Amino acid sequence: MSRKKKKSPKLIVVTGGVLSGLGKGIAAASIGKLLSANLKVVPIKCDGYLNTDPGTMNPVEHGEVYVQDDGGEVDMDFGHYERFIGVDTKFDWNITMGKVFKEILEKERAGDYLGKTVQFIPHVTDMIKEKIYNTLETEQADLGLLEIGGTVGDLENQFYIEAVRQLKFEFGPENIIFIHLTYVPVPNGVNEQKSKPTQMSVKSLQQFGIEPDIIIGRCSEYLTPKIKEKIALFCNLEPSDVISGVDVECIYEIPLIYEQEGLVETLHKKLNIYSPPKINAWRNRVNVLLKNIKNPSKTIDIAIAGKYTELEDSYASVVESITHSAANNDVKVNVVWLDTDGLETQPKKMAEVLELVDGVIVPGGFGARGIEGKISTITYCRENNIPFLGICYGMQLAVIEYARNVVGIKDANTAEILEDGIDVGTAVIDILPEQKAVTKKGGSMRLGGQDVLIKEGTKAHALYGATSVRQRFRHRYEVNPDYIQQIEDAGLVFSGHASDLRIMQLMELPSHPYFMACQFHPELTSRLETPSPLFYNLVKEAIIFSNKRDK
Ligand code: GLN
Repeated sequence: MSRKKKKSPKLIVVTGGVLSGLGKGIAAASIGKLLSANLKVVPIKCDGYLNTDPGTMNPVEHGEVYVQDDGGEVDMDFGHYERFIGVDTKFDWNITMGKVFKEILEKERAGDYLGKTVQFIPHVTDMIKEKIYNTLETEQADLGLLEIGGTVGDLENQFYIEAVRQLKFEFGPENIIFIHLTYVPVPNGVNEQKSKPTQMSVKSLQQFGIEPDIIIGRCSEYLTPKIKEKIALFCNLEPSDVISGVDVECIYEIPLIYEQEGLVETLHKKLNIYSPPKINAWRNRVNVLLKNIKNPSKTIDIAIAGKYTELEDSYASVVESITHSAANNDVKVNVVWLDTDGLETQPKKMAEVLELVDGVIVPGGFGARGIEGKISTITYCRENNIPFLGICYGMQLAVIEYARNVVGIKDANTAEILEDGIDVGTAVIDILPEQKAVTKKGGSMRLGGQDVLIKEGTKAHALYGATSVRQRFRHRYEVNPDYIQQIEDAGLVFSGHASDLRIMQLMELPSHPYFMACQFHPELTSRLETPSPLFYNLVKEAIIFSNKRDK
């Protein structure tokens, strides 16, 4: 299959070798950052698994589920793409084998392949290419940035590799390049950068008919001219095509390092494009972060209280949002992980942690496990004036906490725990009416971007400086409208709601220095240069809290 395109976009394909976990997503996002000043860059990620999307996967297994404005639930690399490149990505930009096979099997049943044997090649590879072409064409992209998940040689990603090999001929060599991210170890005792793993990995890429045009060598130190020459020699490249992917203290440094390593010029030359990076504001924030890592003017501690704390990637966007707010407040923030599972039965342990922190975030979550520990944490923050931000489930649990301990609805709870067979009591958090009939779990929550109307005169209004903001959602439950009046009469303010006025989307406690919560996920749209106001002000209030305590 080959196709004439109206506009001829360029394509950069990013693959990984040697090891997983080298930061291919961040490498791709950094490349996008460096080229996006004059070009419309469209990142596409190919995942080998058979789920349609990661929406139903446990975050501890797969990391955070990133939610897009169009309601897509996608791989967490899309968080990196959005934060680095500054684009709103779309569901179709995440190609999964689940999506590919589903469409092929539907086409087969519909008779679209009548008379033909449906095969991995050409039908699977054609479907992959079709999805890539469609996205580039729909978006009128100047540059596609295609990341292939996993490591070269993985069976489940083989068809993506074969598809991009075919694309080389369809695009023409001047319009497509392959960037391979590898690992350059410096073994203990040997104390020398070693190229062999890179050579082996490039060999296996060559076996599939792909020659890398650029190699990024992840290493604990900058690659020496000698190792660059050696890698270049073995891989048919110029030494300037070998880029140091040196370990960094903060991921936002990576585009700056690639730029310094000459990657922009190399990309301009190889793809015949011109898009010099505009990264001054970015660089300033990075400099603040680096200064605060080495020599902080002030350090504060913020706890993230959740049940997926065993894998920090489960809360990736929350952690990044804290970093954005740290950079913009010129402060170092230590993240303290607080596992809430069973915490309500260990008040001493909880107090030991919370006594020392300057702010607390209760992020999103699902199910009964860990919620009583979160509720106890929220009580502690409310009673001790600790700056608090509740996100999604964190807002629902803050409402339950207030209902139980201030309003006097002792058995207040969320209808969600019924799914775990637990008696609900009074459901101050109830299922969204339109969710009642939903039986299928995949892609069926209230998902994606929605307007949040903000009440004038509230703290939320002051923080956002607007009466309407667009934010992203991912939930099935809401504040039960039957209890809103009663809760508000007791002092809690619902300061933001959906445009039909029913769903409560922001809440605050005016008697507390900073007790804010939202039904949406502000962490998904926070950026290094423009942090989310809810996070920015949490950090700001945490600084004030800490200064007061230090006196
Ligand atoms: N479990 C809650 C709901 O479905 C909150 C979801 C979340 O925190 N993302 O409404």
